[in-house]
Amino acid sequence: MKYKRFILKLSGEALAGADRYGFNTNSAVSICRVIKKCADAGAEVGVVVGGGNFWRGRDNLGINGARSDQIGMLATVMNAVAVAETLESMGADARVMTSIHMQQVSELYTIKSARHNLKHGRICIFGFGTGNPFFTTDSAAALRAAELDADVLLKATLVDGVYDKDPNKYPDAVKYKRLAFNDMLLKKIRVMDATAAALCMENNIPILVFDIENPDNIYSALVGADIGTLVC
Ligand code: UDP
Repeated sequence: MKYKRFILKLSGEALAGADRYGFNTNSAVSICRVIKKCADAGAEVGVVVGGGNFWRGRDNLGINGARSDQIGMLATVMNAVAVAETLESMGADARVMTSIHMQQVSELYTIKSARHNLKHGRICIFGFGTGNPFFTTDSAAALRAAELDADVLLKATLVDGVYDKDPNKYPDAVKYKRLAFNDMLLKKIRVMDATAAALCMENNIPILVFDIENPDNIYSALVGADIGTLVC
């Protein structure tokens, strides 16, 4: 295994699958099967779930921005519970941890309790983002990776890596196999949002960007296969 402890950023989009909205059980099952495989292989697994399949703060302009962000963070909790439930139905030991008290639903996230869970092989599903409006779950993932000394942040997306320009618009776009943090900043290449990228850079946490349409890529990433783009 190349990485012992990792944080996987799973967007709401990945959980919506082909439906593009809501929670698609088939997509979740195929992703969770691989997450469990990683845990069974001895990896310590934390998952930060997004909420964009239900709500995105910035898209709901009719509602005050900060309150809209709170709704977005609640959306991440729906995904976190659904992912944990999916994992448990497969026999995995999963815990939902949220950054605010929701004691009937989840454990309160603290660095100490998360480390404890990870050491005991429990898959931690982190919900409610950072707990603060004006952030994203990318930033939450970077924050958890830094707090929990993760070896890598796995950024699962719908693109198979980082390109020098948008591969959907430009057929001659070139994919980076490796990208230095400094080049990412200098060339203004957007891998994650700026806060998340800065946190990873300052804390020397490599980011592996890869395609989640094939969920087996999560395991391939863990064992160091040559996939996606490594930002380090
Ligand atoms: N959000 C927030 N603070 C956080 C994390 C998330 O306010 O720390 C809100 C924000 O409104 C965001 C929504 O929750 O639009 C859903 O998160 P995100 O867009 O990151 O989900 P994804 O795109 O990964 O599904």
